[in-house]
Amino acid sequence: MNAYERCELCPNLCRVDRTRRKGICGQSDTVRIAWSGLHRGEEPPVTGKYGSGMIFFCGCPLHCQFCQNHQISGKAGEDVGVNFSVSELAELMLSLQRMKATTLNLVTGTHFIPSIASALDIAIDKGFKLPVVWNSSGYERPEALALIDPYIDLYLVDVKSLDEKVCSLFCGRKEYAKAIIPCMDFILKHKSYTDLERLKGTLVRHLVFPGTLPKTLEFLEWYSKKCIDKCALSLMVQFIPPKQDVIFPPMSDDEYEMLLDALDIFGIEDGFVQERGDDILWIPDFREDVPFPEGFADANEYFLSIKRNQYSK
Ligand code: SF4
Repeated sequence: MNAYERCELCPNLCRVDRTRRKGICGQSDTVRIAWSGLHRGEEPPVTGKYGSGMIFFCGCPLHCQFCQNHQISGKAGEDVGVNFSVSELAELMLSLQRMKATTLNLVTGTHFIPSIASALDIAIDKGFKLPVVWNSSGYERPEALALIDPYIDLYLVDVKSLDEKVCSLFCGRKEYAKAIIPCMDFILKHKSYTDLERLKGTLVRHLVFPGTLPKTLEFLEWYSKKCIDKCALSLMVQFIPPKQDVIFPPMSDDEYEMLLDALDIFGIEDGFVQERGDDILWIPDFREDVPFPEGFADANEYFLSIKRNQYSK
């Protein structure tokens, strides 16, 4: 039995046969990709000189209420993806390398781990050499991560919150608060160092959700005890709901100062803090060939050729 036939790839543990029906992630056993190309909006070492080689997978085991990728994560039910065989996925990885991508950046691949591992085997046999970034929500099972860890150079992993109420409100799953602990235990066991120049280790992302600064301070305390000297931190402060009819007040000056003070108090130095006032519209539109703001991304031609081929049938 392969892993898709009784799927336990993520903490939802649907145990459905994905060769016949879909689980909570909304995906069958066929890899579906929403977009691929170079992207220059990741953290500087991940972006590098020419851009990170992104593969955005369709579907997601979480159902975040304000997901910026809602067109492809399944919540809104829009269907903009393209089916890929494992050998086509390998070819896509190789074509990102030919585009001079700095990294292969696998975005929300949790529910396709077995296919991604097989594709990496094929690509490596054919000369694939890029550092591999596992760009993950953190809603993972160690048992599944063990299948992909041997291929991963850098974990770019969200720790969204350790608080059940915040997780329930913003991630659609209160279980996230518990699941992130064994996920991080696994990651720190396997990548307990960070060398961003060599694109190795673990970069933890945390976005401050509106009105939850005290919970972020709790997260920072946890991070200082568990992750300091092992990871780098990417702290993001600009929460942008995808639909403009939902308004959240931006972080105040006092809150921002409190956040920076907390980094000092907890001795957190390695990483990045997002500046406020960035007015670039970061909500991607995956119906476009290039879903991101002008100048920030270049589509992969191999991906576009498969997309056009499928959509013309
Ligand atoms: S990967 Fe999908 S089908 Fe499998 S357990 Fe998670 S949500 Fe369910």
